[in-house]
Amino acid sequence: MNFELSEEQRAFADSVARFAREQLAPGALRRAHSHQWDWKAAELIAKQGLMGIAFPEEDGGQGGTLMHAVLAIQQVALACPRSADIVQAGNFGPIRTFVEYATPQQKARFLPALLAGRKLICLGMSEPEAGSAVTELKTSARREGDEYVINGTKVFSTHGLEADLFLIYVRFGPGVGGIGSVLLERGMPGFQVGQPSAFMNGERWGQLYFDNVRIPAANLLLGEGGFKKQISGFNVERLGNASRALACGRYCFNLAREHALQRKQFGRALCEFQGVQWKFAEMALKLEQAQLLLYRAAMEGEHGLPSAQSTALAKLACNLAGWELSNEAMQVMGGLGFTQDLLVEYCVRRTRGWMIAGGSVEILKNRIAEGVFGRTFPQRAEKAA
Ligand SMILES: Cc1cc2nc3c(=O)[nH]c(=O)nc-3n(C[C@H](O)[C@H](O)[C@H](O)COP(=O)(O)OP(=O)(O)OC[C@H]3O[C@@H](n4cnc5c(N)ncnc54)[C@H](O)[C@@H]3O)c2cc1C
Repeated sequence: MNFELSEEQRAFADSVARFAREQLAPGALRRAHSHQWDWKAAELIAKQGLMGIAFPEEDGGQGGTLMHAVLAIQQVALACPRSADIVQAGNFGPIRTFVEYATPQQKARFLPALLAGRKLICLGMSEPEAGSAVTELKTSARREGDEYVINGTKVFSTHGLEADLFLIYVRFGPGVGGIGSVLLERGMPGFQVGQPSAFMNGERWGQLYFDNVRIPAANLLLGEGGFKKQISGFNVERLGNASRALACGRYCFNLAREHALQRKQFGRALCEFQGVQWKFAEMALKLEQAQLLLYRAAMEGEHGLPSAQSTALAKLACNLAGWELSNEAMQVMGGLGFTQDLLVEYCVRRTRGWMIAGGSVEILKNRIAEGVFGRTFPQRAEKAA
């Protein structure tokens, strides 16, 4: 067992940190408060070789490992939390499922622009009546000759307003076995993106409507029986989510630590009060625990996809640590932490969302408990009875 990064991993992380400090940190506050996707930063990050880090070179990736991708997203988030979303989009999000299961023709068609930071892919999984119970999704795909006809609605999709390509979970038939996925493109007749809505974290999303959208059979990603494969790909998305949450927590921890060293009240530095010291001791503990679980999950998935159990443990620990650290850092920094002149309040808002997105903390606990007891606990009323 080795708890240290290798020399090569450390050098890689250092080089990303340098790039992020020099090129991304100066625009961090502006990006965090903008609703616009920063396409310029996306191209810059792509040119730096930080897209497709763990994808095979023959797919246009960098041929690295999941661990490299985790190191990169953390280092970028530590300099500019919002830019880490670009690293997410180019490495961990639906693009990861796409790379795993797309045909060579689909990859040749869509990947170059995605990996260059010129286009975005969006995941359409959640529906008005299917959130945590995602297998209850209703969006349907019906085969007609050389086409599939898609009908349904998706909600909360990140990048729904900016993406060109949409990876949509659909139902070909009944039950979990009837679920798979298709690729839709913006502008297809019958496909509409609704009015922008805003999340508390500043991100915008629009409802996706499919009204008899006809797509060529070549746009099938995973047919019936594809659900388990999709969720395996989604485990990587969860690690990207976990990495950003923890990095936001660390970002705020670092700022609050500096503040506690410098700021004086009652004639003493804040760090000299035991009440403040204990906050930092607890924060340090949460930070280290979550970091180790995150690295372990990334190492397990180094040359493939991470396991569901390790992913659930890592995401739960990172989501909680990210939120609790940002929130506690805000408290330590008083009124200053609450202003929008710093990114602490932004990190509080961001980390809160990740406790809901990509498998809420409660759903993760359900998954972890199944691992603990070595059996499933069906959540549906009639199955559980
Ligand atoms: C910032 C953000 C980004 C997102 N991005 C995307 C995206 O890109 N694509 C996409 O498809 N979706 C996206 N989502 C949607 C997200 O996946 C869902 O919000 C999530 O799955 C929860 O579903 P829900 O909101 O319908 O809540 P519900 O499923 O209605 O759950 C409500 C509450 O009940 C709890 N609960 C539900 N079932 C159980 C249970 N069995 N045991 C214990 N507690 C339970 C939940 O944990 C939650 O606290 C995003 C959401 C957010 C907040």
